[in-house]
Amino acid sequence: MNQEDVKQRIKDYQQADGVHPLTCGLDSKHEKLYPKILEQGLVLLCPNCNYTQTYIPDLFFDDGFYEWLRGMKRLI
Ligand SMILES: [Zn+2]
Repeated sequence: MNQEDVKQRIKDYQQADGVHPLTCGLDSKHEKLYPKILEQGLVLLCPNCNYTQTYIPDLFFDDGFYEWLRGMKRLI
């Protein structure tokens, strides 16, 4: 799976209701993290500060999880 695919999965996840979004590691009241592909690879960035998370949770590489997430979105 390429990084663009994983990036899209993270976007879908962050917009979904009923899941706990990925949030800033410095202040959880900041807006949700968003994925971006940098030279070093895919990272998660905070819109409100310079927090950068380089760890991408394994579930975004799991096809079963993504199918489940898409099923959730159809219910909304
Ligand atoms: Zn932040």
